[in-house]
Parts: sequence; C-alpha cells; structure tokens
Amino acid sequence: MRTSSSHEEGCDRRWSILTKRFDGAEKTVSKVCACTVEWYQQQGQWKFKEVPGSEFVLPADLILLATGFVHVVHDGLVQDLGLQLDDRGNIAANNFQSSVPWVFAAGDTVNGASLVVRAIDSGRQAAAAVDQWLRSSP
Ligand SMILES: Cc1cc2nc3c(=O)[nH]c(=O)nc-3n(C[C@H](O)[C@H](O)[C@H](O)COP(=O)(O)OP(=O)(O)OC[C@H]3O[C@@H](n4cnc5c(N)ncnc54)[C@H](O)[C@@H]3O)c2cc1C
Repeated sequence: MRTSSSHEEGCDRRWSILTKRFDGAEKTVSKVCACTVEWYQQQGQWKFKEVPGSEFVLPADLILLATGFVHVVHDGLVQDLGLQLDDRGNIAANNFQSSVPWVFAAGDTVNGASLVVRAIDSGRQAAAAVDQWLRSSP
C-alpha cells in the first residue's frame, strides 16, 4: 500500500466498500449509501459479497469516481471472431496467437490493463510471432 504526501495531509481511506446509491435533493448530492463487502475465492477468481447488516451512510458534497479496468471489450470484434478468453476475460493467446489461428493479439487485450512500454514490447513480439507463423505456413 502506497502512502503519498497527499494522503499524509489528511484523509480516511476505506477498503472493501460497495456503493449502493447516492442520495440528495434536486441535482445536489448529499450522501453516499454503502455497505461493507467480504472477498472470497471461487474457482480461482476473486469475488465479493455484501456483509449483511453492514449498510452505512457517509455525508458527501463531492463524489469522484476512480474506476478501474476490467478486461478487453467482448462485444463486437472479440465475440464476432469467436475468440476464446482467459479466466480474466482477456483474449487467450499462446505466443500471441489466439484460439483462431490467423488472429493474433497483443497489448492490453492479452495482458489486461498495463503500461505503454509493455504494449509496445508486446506489439513487437506479436509482429515477430506473425512473421514466424507466416514463414512456417505452407
Ligand atoms: C486513463 C488511462 C491512463 C493511462 N496512463 C498510463 C500512463 O501514465 N503510463 C502508461 O505507461 N500507461 C498508461 N495507461 C495504459 C496504456 O494507455 C495502455 O496500457 C496502452 O495504451 C495499451 O496499448 P494497446 O495498443 O494494447 O491498446 P490501446 O492503446 O487501447 O489500443 C487499442 C486500439 O484498438 C482500437 N480498437 C478497439 N476495437 C477495435 C475494433 N473493433 N476495430 C478497430 N480498432 C479497434 C481502439 O480504438 C484503440 O485505438 C493508461 C491508460 C488509461 C486508460
């Protein structure tokens, strides 16, 4: 867990919280209704469930959503091509080759959300894998 100078200036950080709804009057928010969640593993995947009776309300006049990333978008290309996914929902690839042999994948689609340098490296390696595959194909 990283604590930066901004955190040290003063804030409360809470984890394992699920926002249920925002309340307020007219267009002004005044509170966050939330509850505590419990994490557990199911078939290797982390899931969470609400802790019964843990609902609470926090007063709020500004809410900033800092949403994370999940996986590659499935609608459209990925589904239309019928590409297999890994257990995190990214494109399953072996040496950048997807389950459809002539479809290669690289970058965030395979690694999940990551860094630009990793995407560049992944793209280069995927290009080499395509080249190798084309050369070895009859
Ligand atoms: C808000 C934000 C901040 C970030 N900050 C940093 C940072 O500070 N430093 C850092 O290293 N990394 C950062 N990243 C991560 C970095 O941007 C990604 O890891 C990187 O861009 C992944 O590159 P990529 O080529 O795999 O995918 P992308 O850059 O996402 O490129 C995929 C491309 O495919 C296109 N596409 C998708 N579907 C189709 C389709 N059906 N047909 C045609 N085109 C399609 C998309 O429009 C997009 O242009 C950040 C990411 C986000 C979202």
